[in-house]
Amino acid sequence: MSTDYDILINGGGMVGATLACALVQSPHTAKLRIGMIEGQRFEKKTDAAWELRVSAITCASQRLFESLGVWPLMKSQRVSPFEAMDVWDAEGTGNIQFYAKEMGEPSLGHIVENCVVQQALYERLDDLGFKGWLCPEKLLGCEKTNEGWQVTLDSGATLTTRLLIGADGALSKVRQLANFKMDAQPYEQSGVVATIHTEKPNGAVARQRFLHSGPLALLPLCGTDGDRHHCSIVWSLDTALAEEKMALDDLAFAQALSNASEFRLGKIEMVDKRTCFPFYERHVESYIVEGVALCGDAAHTIHPLAGQGVNLGLMDAAALAEELHRAAGKGLDIANFSVLRRYARRRRGANTLMMEGMQGFKTLFGSDNLPLRWARNTGMSIMNQVPPVKNRIMRYAMGLEGDIPKLARGHTL
Ligand SMILES: Cc1cc2nc3c(=O)[nH]c(=O)nc-3n(C[C@H](O)[C@H](O)[C@H](O)COP(=O)(O)OP(=O)(O)OC[C@H]3O[C@@H](n4cnc5c(N)ncnc54)[C@H](O)[C@@H]3O)c2cc1C
Repeated sequence: MSTDYDILINGGGMVGATLACALVQSPHTAKLRIGMIEGQRFEKKTDAAWELRVSAITCASQRLFESLGVWPLMKSQRVSPFEAMDVWDAEGTGNIQFYAKEMGEPSLGHIVENCVVQQALYERLDDLGFKGWLCPEKLLGCEKTNEGWQVTLDSGATLTTRLLIGADGALSKVRQLANFKMDAQPYEQSGVVATIHTEKPNGAVARQRFLHSGPLALLPLCGTDGDRHHCSIVWSLDTALAEEKMALDDLAFAQALSNASEFRLGKIEMVDKRTCFPFYERHVESYIVEGVALCGDAAHTIHPLAGQGVNLGLMDAAALAEELHRAAGKGLDIANFSVLRRYARRRRGANTLMMEGMQGFKTLFGSDNLPLRWARNTGMSIMNQVPPVKNRIMRYAMGLEGDIPKLARGHTL
């Protein structure tokens, strides 16, 4: 007990706050001294405008939020279920559709504004009486000590902890300061992100068109009044092309987008503010070093073409909470390397599989090699006729296959 905290989480984004929420609800870890450092004060959303940043939340992530009592708070704000997915190849006839009813599920997932997830998590933490907030505070330094780690904050305060968790995003300070080794490669693509208003309603269908220049995702939004004329788009393009699209005026951009989407939703009538993100693939060699664990974007970033990024991070948070709960329940040292190793083993393999799959998809659909184009178009159309294969792929994308953490199976810790 010579440290200030047992567990100190750096980063109260979607992943860090989910982890905190899980830890304070476990009968074993709730007894520990848990702190969470967050650099930015969260501004509660007060208007009805669509937030630019959204995430496609899988069924597994939804179950995790349900187990933590966060889902009703998200639903009471705004979530957009989608019941089907339509994927097609711009360079041929390849087309595949997935339907929730074929999977025996009410939806394939939900599109949710990131601020809605964050607000719901913060409200839940308040309801649970969480007092460990250190916000706004930035972690600037950390050093290994005999008992664990000492961190320095921008206010000048120093704190000590037995276990330090880096949930501080793609440019993680904890990862950098604790000398984690990482593979990082730019995808040489950027994503143009915007909210659009369409002529036709989206019909609760998530659409993805694979163009030679990169995939265009149209994620269906649903207003609280049931209006379905909005979509969030992620248009992945080679970085120079993305910059060209960003430079277009609104009318020209809407026209280019209408063409790129083959007018599936009619004309794109209005585009809200646009922004552009460069994509990187990053993966740390190990998720842990002595007394430190990384989760979420701090450990891995992935091309957003299948909308998996935050879902992988949420499963990290659920698995880490489960391992810490298990260790605390047995009276083990939660910062012990063998405890952390169980978490790292569970998550690195699962995340690697998904990342390799995404890289394969990107390569396959980025190629204009004629035999490969023929093979992918034919493969897609054949697969579309074989529901067991198709449903297996979809179950995997929905997070319903593999080593699913307890909380994401709908159980409590
Ligand atoms: C264009 C685009 C589209 C995407 N679409 C999807 C999608 O559809 N589905 C999906 O699953 N994922 C998607 N993603 C990925 C998803 O946005 C990320 O995986 C997710 O935001 C990562 O969450 P996180 O909590 O790990 O990190 P972050 O969201 O980056 O949160 C990190 C937090 O740490 C804080 N912080 C950082 N440094 C410090 C410090 N030194 N001290 C204190 N606090 C600090 C930050 O303020 C922040 O709040 C997309 C990404 C992009 C770029």
